[in-house]
Amino acid sequence: MTDQPIRHILSLSGGKDSAALAIYMRDRVLDMEYIFHDTDKELPETYDYLSRLEAVLGKRITKTTADQSFDHWLTVFGGMIPSNHRRWCTKMLKLKPFEKYVGESPVINYVAIRADEKREGYISHKPNITTVYPFRDDGLVKADILRILEESGIGLPRYTEWGRTRSGCFFCFYQQKIEWVRLKEKYPDKFEEAKTYEYATNKGEGDPFYWCGDEPLVELERPERMEEIKQKWLEREEKRKKNGKKRKLINILGDGDEDEGDTGGCLICQL
Ligand code: SF4
Repeated sequence: MTDQPIRHILSLSGGKDSAALAIYMRDRVLDMEYIFHDTDKELPETYDYLSRLEAVLGKRITKTTADQSFDHWLTVFGGMIPSNHRRWCTKMLKLKPFEKYVGESPVINYVAIRADEKREGYISHKPNITTVYPFRDDGLVKADILRILEESGIGLPRYTEWGRTRSGCFFCFYQQKIEWVRLKEKYPDKFEEAKTYEYATNKGEGDPFYWCGDEPLVELERPERMEEIKQKWLEREEKRKKNGKKRKLINILGDGDEDEGDTGGCLICQL
């Protein structure tokens, strides 16, 4: 049995759930350490959200940038961009920095899974880390999370205003095609950067590999293809409404779990 003091740590992703958990825990655990694993490939709105959150919490959020960059690890992993099946990015840029920050002392790790969702994902299994789920344990669902954010004055991350549904790297392969279209329109330079990575990955021989599975970004960005993706998205929305699953605007803008073709995501990047 160790007599080291127990540290309390909450990892923020830049998303709404972990932000709401931080606010929820603010007066419950006074010595909470708030951290953010910065991949250096985040959206500007994520940094904005975190600095507004610092003001709400009255505390600094520690950034745990990995010792080596995304580009370094890309080379180490053979120049292959990450994917759902090769998720070295989460491991090297999020999980490892988290474990380094935690060290060997006993830690309680607070994770923002809600009572109304079942999510799996990368979490650390180091023996000195105990993971707890306050929202799930206290029965808090999405409506409660939105209320916490609204009452604190912070609201939703601003990337939701242009239709991005999740936090994480701007090129995250969990994005839906409609989100790639929105990225192209909002941040053409970041779209170009993602395209450059994709092009470099496919320079050699072997099967082609694309960020969004079956379609290269150079195809997706054709104006007629972007229109088609938008149109299909609208049609699906219409169909969903007709099926009686009409959603409130805040849900359309604020979450991936109710959005078309939600492909999951990982806890440490996107809660
Ligand atoms: S946000 Fe996506 S691309 Fe970035 S580390 Fe997480 S899984 Fe990888």
